[in-house]
Amino acid sequence: MASAAIAESDQGAAASPPRLVVRDCPMCGTKASHALPRYSRAPWHLVACDACDFVYLKEAPVYDRLVDEFAWEKNWLLEAERRRGRSAFGKLAPRRSMQNAKASKKQRVARLFRQGNVLDVGCGGDTLVPDGFTPYGIEISEALQARADKVMQARGGRCVHAPAVEGVASFPDNFFSGVILSSFLEHEMQPAQLLAACARVLQPGGSIYVRVPNYGGVNRRVRGAEWCGFRHPDHVNYFTLESLTKLAHRFGLKLRLLNPWRLAFDDNINAVLAKSTRGGEWA
Ligand SMILES: [Zn+2]
Repeated sequence: MASAAIAESDQGAAASPPRLVVRDCPMCGTKASHALPRYSRAPWHLVACDACDFVYLKEAPVYDRLVDEFAWEKNWLLEAERRRGRSAFGKLAPRRSMQNAKASKKQRVARLFRQGNVLDVGCGGDTLVPDGFTPYGIEISEALQARADKVMQARGGRCVHAPAVEGVASFPDNFFSGVILSSFLEHEMQPAQLLAACARVLQPGGSIYVRVPNYGGVNRRVRGAEWCGFRHPDHVNYFTLESLTKLAHRFGLKLRLLNPWRLAFDDNINAVLAKSTRGGEWA
């Protein structure tokens, strides 16, 4: 669907020619969309699908450009600086410790999976797979993949250097007891294809941990264009609980929210997408 729906564009070829792809809706494949100027910042245009209302970045940089020029970490820091500069409180606020965030995520995912092989998609130079599991990873940056591979090989696994959909395709059916998609689906040009691939490599009774920005939350409505979930052009998909649930169902996965009580005020959706057991039960 989406691979056929993506067409090369020569828009923006004026200055430093950005290689962009013009996208159809990554959820339903519809071409028609309407602009959301309030949330767009030139040259990045957010749109909502005319058919299913899914919000996405219409023109997005191709993969190699994401790696080389719009590296997620780099853009995250630039965006954090931009926001800090605009807010009196932000100037005083301590810088967020990415290490602490990683440690607490590790503890969280350790409780979600059964023993076995766990795949960390977009793992960076390390892994969120906790001790006691065999870690596998997929990473598009060659330098980070080499670092993660060293860590994972020492624990009996490995890290693949590839775009996410292609990387998952390299693993056999039912290979993983768990898959981690932490802060990843919002970056993925082909989220439906990726989730389909993850469902295939997941064992019956296994589960996928998903964390994505919560476009349906109160903070996005209150903060508007300054909402922390907007990161142009790194984030190309904007999920709500409804759209994520629908996507999971399409591939036979059942969504369970990990933050149900505070979801409305949470900037992220934290969820487990479970695959039924061979007997058709849900773990
Ligand atoms: Zn759509």
